[in-house]
Amino acid sequence: MSKDFAPRVLLVDDEPLLLESLKAVLEINGFVCRTATDGFEALRLLRETPPDIIISDLRMPIMSGFELLAIIRRRFPQIAVIVISGEFIVNLQTSGLLMNAFFQKGRYTPQELIATMRDLYSQSPILPALPKHTHAPLWINRRSTEYLIATCTECLRSFPIENDVPETHALQTAECPSCGTTITYAVDSTVLEMLAATRPVRDKLTPENSLP
Ligand SMILES: [Zn+2]
Repeated sequence: MSKDFAPRVLLVDDEPLLLESLKAVLEINGFVCRTATDGFEALRLLRETPPDIIISDLRMPIMSGFELLAIIRRRFPQIAVIVISGEFIVNLQTSGLLMNAFFQKGRYTPQELIATMRDLYSQSPILPALPKHTHAPLWINRRSTEYLIATCTECLRSFPIENDVPETHALQTAECPSCGTTITYAVDSTVLEMLAATRPVRDKLTPENSLP
C-alpha cells in the first residue's frame, strides 16, 4: 500500500489501552489512524478530516455508539463503518443500516479485521444510496436479554424494546420514540439462535434445569 494512498481510519472506543493496541496493529499494516474516546470527540475529528473508515464501539460514556452511528450514517454516508462490540450482537442480515461490518470483541483476528477494512476501502466511498430496509436491525445485549434494541429504519435512532419474543418466527412492530414511525422487526431463526446463545448461564441457575 503506497503511503500516498494510505486509508485514513478513525478509531472510537472508551478504553485507551484497546485503542492504542488496535492503532499500533493498523499502522503497521499501512493505515493512518486517529483515535477518539467518546462520540463528541469523534464527531469533532470527523468534521476536520473525514476518514475513509470508522471503527467504533457501541457502549461509551457521554454519547452512545448507537447515537454516533446514526449521526455518521445520516451526515457522512460515504464513510465505511465497522462496529466492534463486546456488549451487543446484531442480526447481520439487517445490520447494513448502521454499519458495513461487525466484529465481536475478542472473537476476531487482526487479519480478519484488516481484510475487511481493505475490502471496504476498495469499495469506498460507500455510496449514500443504502438499500431500503423494511425490517429493523435487532441488537441483543449479551448481559441482559430482557430487552432487545431496534434501530429505526427511518431516523436511524436505536431504542429498547421489551423482549417478550414468541417461540415461533413472527413479524413484530414497535413505535420509534424519536420519530413515531411504526417499525417492523423480524424475530427469525437467527435472532432466536442469538438469544439462545446468550442464555446458557442464566438457564443453568433455574431449578427445572438442574434436574437430570
Ligand atoms: Zn425513528
